[in-house]
Amino acid sequence: MPALAAIAACGLLVILASGNGQAQKPPASPLGSISPRTGLLLNDDVVVRLIQASSGDRAHDYVSRLALWSREQVSEGFTRAAEWVVEKAKEFGLERVAIERFPSDGKIAYFGEVMPPQWKVRKGELWLTSPFLMKITTYDDLPMSLAEGSTSADVEAELVDIGAGRGDSDYAAGVKGKIVLTSSRPFDIFERAVNKEGAAGILSSWSVPDFDYLNRRPGDFPDQVGWPRIPREAVEGAGHFAFAISARRAQDLRAMMGQGKAPRVHAGVDAALVPGHLEVVSGVIPGAAYPQEEVIVTAHLDHYKPGANDNASGSAAILEMARTMRELIESGKLQPPLRTIRFMWVPEYRGTYAWLSAHLNDPVRRIANLNFDMVGEDVVKTNSVLSLTYTSDSNPSFLNAVIESIVDFANTYNNERYPPQLDLYIGSITGSRNRLSVRMAPYSTGTDHELFNNLRIGASSFGAWPDNFYHSSEDTPDKVDPTQLHRAVVIGLAGITTVAYADSEQAPDIARLSLIYGRRRIAASEFSAVRSLLAASKEGFSDVDHLAGNMIAHVYRRERAAVGSAAMFARTAQARSDIEKTIALLSGDEAASRKKLDEAAALRAGELKVVRAPRSLTEAEKRAARLFPARNKGKELHNLGYISRILAKDSTAQVPKIQAALDEITRLYQAQGDSELRLMGFSDAAAFYADGQRSILEIRDAVAAEYAPMPIEALELYFRAFEKAGVMTIAEKRERK
Ligand SMILES: [Zn+2]
Repeated sequence: MPALAAIAACGLLVILASGNGQAQKPPASPLGSISPRTGLLLNDDVVVRLIQASSGDRAHDYVSRLALWSREQVSEGFTRAAEWVVEKAKEFGLERVAIERFPSDGKIAYFGEVMPPQWKVRKGELWLTSPFLMKITTYDDLPMSLAEGSTSADVEAELVDIGAGRGDSDYAAGVKGKIVLTSSRPFDIFERAVNKEGAAGILSSWSVPDFDYLNRRPGDFPDQVGWPRIPREAVEGAGHFAFAISARRAQDLRAMMGQGKAPRVHAGVDAALVPGHLEVVSGVIPGAAYPQEEVIVTAHLDHYKPGANDNASGSAAILEMARTMRELIESGKLQPPLRTIRFMWVPEYRGTYAWLSAHLNDPVRRIANLNFDMVGEDVVKTNSVLSLTYTSDSNPSFLNAVIESIVDFANTYNNERYPPQLDLYIGSITGSRNRLSVRMAPYSTGTDHELFNNLRIGASSFGAWPDNFYHSSEDTPDKVDPTQLHRAVVIGLAGITTVAYADSEQAPDIARLSLIYGRRRIAASEFSAVRSLLAASKEGFSDVDHLAGNMIAHVYRRERAAVGSAAMFARTAQARSDIEKTIALLSGDEAASRKKLDEAAALRAGELKVVRAPRSLTEAEKRAARLFPARNKGKELHNLGYISRILAKDSTAQVPKIQAALDEITRLYQAQGDSELRLMGFSDAAAFYADGQRSILEIRDAVAAEYAPMPIEALELYFRAFEKAGVMTIAEKRERK
């Protein structure tokens, strides 16, 4: 109510001011053509306002607040956090603020993803009872020390060491009825230790997820406690539990065993799995001209306590973006956005799946998604690098250039030098003087932008990786740097403002920005294509030659589409024709790229004494060229995980064969040094190229350029499995000319 009154009063003031002819005209568009000072499409005075009106110190306060709740998905702690966000969002003047609730009970699925039941914990305690009384850990002290999914139990038993708990010798002494101490992730050994060997429960010192082993090793941080869970299907009804402790604490317990003291422990758990709800908070700044077009800003609100960087930081950052925009609009320094800006705080993935299942077909055009996940890292403490992702190559977008221009700008004024001019420096009162060094990263998955990207909405995610404290008890607010939070807020604001205020007039500029940044990306691909040719061996030459040509074709196709996507802002024939002219400039570029490639290939072929030969298609490739997969309605987001689950018992689907092919490529791909985050998205990449326009052969070529080549036979099986599962339809057409 107070916020509404304030808006009304402000509106009145603006009308009165313009009525009597005094200054205070409604501000003009915040956008212009490319600024010589910042390289942004935003006007310089607007950039200064976005920096000076936003605060990393405030955002850090929100982080500290959120870090007090255990915000597991579908939990009471999450509800508390969601209610607090609602209160702040209303206070800051967002409209239509609400919590949407979606049933989540271990059975219901959205887009094929089964949602978890609520894990209701009243008590979780683990005590050493012999040789002396000592509290080992409790849920109240550290909620994540009780594995998610644990259910009621009251057990007093001997504690025995099973080491990794993976081999027969680990169980030689017998563990029936005992509580086992292990260094493994409880989830991984639950089946063996509990179901097969009859252990009463698990005590684990695991803390580092295996996909993070490239960055930190178990034992690097001996006081970290991990974030464990146990398989849900294993705990239905029964009293099963696991606790997590630090490596140091595990050593203490092992030392007792070494002294022949046979420690005994008492586990008291009062917890159950019950039907619950996923809760999604959203609120908007309505669009003044195009309210049915939306820019979606997301952060996942869930995770363990404290979860300061992951992801109180992203949740706080978008809250501060909302506050800043509302303040600038309310004070007349920024006109209301042309299109609606929707802020969403979600349970990661699941909340977004659920929300999209209800809203996918709303009469709304979704223009872009900006996602914020782990954005406040003190990069010195956490050993992190901040990055923003490009959209996937199956979803080229103008957003890449908009974001990359902001990255260039932010690095220029916030890096290793003391800033040349302070109005564009982004630093908070209580924050560090660490450099920013944010970079653009190739598309990777692992958080909510993936789903928007898969729906072909331009989506970029801002986040830090790696992080020494990721998914552990040490992800605390002191690892969050107000200065970096402030930078994340400004980067987000700059992106949101560009996209939410762009109109026909700016569409040609967005296309031009896409052209110049697209050229930069093309140049990088051209470099690696030429390098691979010059490094080719005699035996490998033909493959390398083919892949290099394929790469160039792929990146030009991608960048033409990215430039063309600026047309979504063009409402006039003039703007559309300007964009077409910009796209046409790439044709000359492509011919020049091909020439460079040909020269390098001819040079190398001469040295190796091989003859360059055009490729002829195999029978399987010819067939694949006639097959055009497309997604069925309602199956827009179903992925390979879903396919594998529902076809697990259908031997004709040959899922293991598909999986083996993917694993093989993943290993090759890994050997090339690509990041663990990239690898996560690989197995679904092909599936999201399927649009009815590209043949399986063309998808094979696109995936080869974006990731790594996949055998055509395995790829056809892959798409046949999607068809069999009812997710896709494969049309057989004549070969494309
Ligand atoms: Zn996260």
